[in-house]
Amino acid sequence: MKKKSGLFLLPLLVLCAFPQSPAREGKLKIVTTLGYLRYVAQEVGGDRVTAVALANPRQDPHYVTPTPAMNQLTSDADLFIENGLSLDIWQKNVVDASGNPAIQPGNPGHLVATVNVPVKELPTEVSRAWGDIHPQGNPHIWLDPLNIRIVAGNIAERLKQLDPANTAYYQTRLEQFRGRLDAAMFGEELVRALGKSGGDVLVRKAINNELADWLKLRGLEGKLGGWMKEAAPLNGMKVISYHKTYIYFADRFGLQLTGELEEKPGIPPPPQHRDAVVEDVKREGIRVILNDNFYSREAADYVASKTGAKVIITYLDVGALPEVDTYEKLITFLVQNITQAVR
Ligand SMILES: [Zn+2]
Repeated sequence: MKKKSGLFLLPLLVLCAFPQSPAREGKLKIVTTLGYLRYVAQEVGGDRVTAVALANPRQDPHYVTPTPAMNQLTSDADLFIENGLSLDIWQKNVVDASGNPAIQPGNPGHLVATVNVPVKELPTEVSRAWGDIHPQGNPHIWLDPLNIRIVAGNIAERLKQLDPANTAYYQTRLEQFRGRLDAAMFGEELVRALGKSGGDVLVRKAINNELADWLKLRGLEGKLGGWMKEAAPLNGMKVISYHKTYIYFADRFGLQLTGELEEKPGIPPPPQHRDAVVEDVKREGIRVILNDNFYSREAADYVASKTGAKVIITYLDVGALPEVDTYEKLITFLVQNITQAVR
């Protein structure tokens, strides 16, 4: 009888030792697939979290080889964050091999960061017209800063769920981060001139493509600053890229993407395709070719040599260059390098 009640007590003792929602003493350990996710998680989590990324930011994010070190890193993570949309599918091997039940898909410790982000280039048919590596639409959502606001919100909500005692802290950090992004996007002066919810108003107008008209109507167009002002020379400019990496960036800043060097996403350009691109570049008067640093620049150089277009080697992730160590610097890098090329 005595023995039986002792056994009965055991689960209770275990529960007491590992309570379900404790006031956490240590920091939450976050592991992300990509560098930009690590940056946003650290910004939102502040000194309540430590965040590390698995992928080398100079590497092709579609193809990362999982290593034992990655499995080790995730074995005691509290939260694992992936981009999703079939970009970083390699994460599945890492999560499987981690032996960490908390971060398995479906558990609060596993977050797909791009939930609720409006996805472009959704395949409309089974023909896989966009290629095999974008089966859920274009996953490169993070080069539109307005999408990063959504990603940051998703991360904040999950941190609150995992660490409810610090809910107010994460909310404050989220609002501060969004405030910094809005200032970088539209200029601090304009955001401040519009009062407390100025950033939200500007974001809404930008999403609805009403920003320029709306500012003009209020005599505020001269106050627009930030990336939106810096990128103004790009409006209507035609560019081609190696891969369909820039659709979100282009749509936000007014660039017109007229084609890719790849024949389909993930499929390198055969010679006849390169020659077709040469004709496009000549016909459309395209001056810029965007080539991600991890793709061969051979095809881009070929097209440039036949047309006089300029090749810009671009970087996709936070940390790809020592000087591109924040998300804001990544966007600034892209805006400045593309505008300088056409000056
Ligand atoms: Zn891609």
